[in-house]
Amino acid sequence: MSILGGVLFDIDGVLVTSWKPIPGARETLDYLDHKDIARAFLTNTTSKTRTQIAESLAGVGLPVHADDIVTAASLTADHLRETYPGASVVLVNNGDIAVDMPGIEFVDESSTHDPDVVVVGGAGPEFTHERLSRVYDWLCRGIPVVAMHRSLMWTTAAGLRIDTGMYLTGMEKASGHTAQAIGKPAPLGFQTAAERMGTDPVDVVMVGDDIDNDVLAAQVVGMTGVLVRTGKFRQDTLDRRAKNEFGMQPNHIIGSVADLPELLENR
Ligand SMILES: [Mg+2]
Repeated sequence: MSILGGVLFDIDGVLVTSWKPIPGARETLDYLDHKDIARAFLTNTTSKTRTQIAESLAGVGLPVHADDIVTAASLTADHLRETYPGASVVLVNNGDIAVDMPGIEFVDESSTHDPDVVVVGGAGPEFTHERLSRVYDWLCRGIPVVAMHRSLMWTTAAGLRIDTGMYLTGMEKASGHTAQAIGKPAPLGFQTAAERMGTDPVDVVMVGDDIDNDVLAAQVVGMTGVLVRTGKFRQDTLDRRAKNEFGMQPNHIIGSVADLPELLENR
């Protein structure tokens, strides 16, 4: 890679864990600023708006602009406006993120009318048996279900938590219908983030803790992928992949975000 057009970061597990900074994150952001290297952030987090994410990061000493953050919710809103203009949408999500989805007509899920589209965000206490059963019923009847992402789990300081993908996979298997997923690992977010940095995906370095949804997904659109050994990184996941000679490998593996400047200097 000759040019460095920008660095794209996953947030959770790379810069912070449970919104506590990972050592070296601040220094790495400062390094990029000092070198005048563009940066953007791509997250499947659906519990906070872009402004709230920027505030949470600033609150732990990580200066990030809301405009530089691409979320699964903002991407989903773009997709809904383009593909289902004027549609009535039922949203099942953990967290109030409607502000990041302007122009979308949300309707009450208990309405007697079926919605035009069902949007499923991140899992949480809102994912009750009753609500998920209703989503499953809509899926079975052919109403489009759009998922902000299909992540299987996320990490917290208290351990792993199961996410939307776990539920979707079962619903799809049982219904024979497929939900469309918008966030990582789909290409849209990576391309949108590169555009935001004013560069081509091939000139972007993407740093993530999820080998599939961050790193290899970035490499699929031509970015250079860097896997960090923090957050949801698990050695056995990497080992399993290494045994598959046809499987893609991360372009680079580093200990943590703290090691990124050294990698960029020596690339
Ligand atoms: Mg992550």
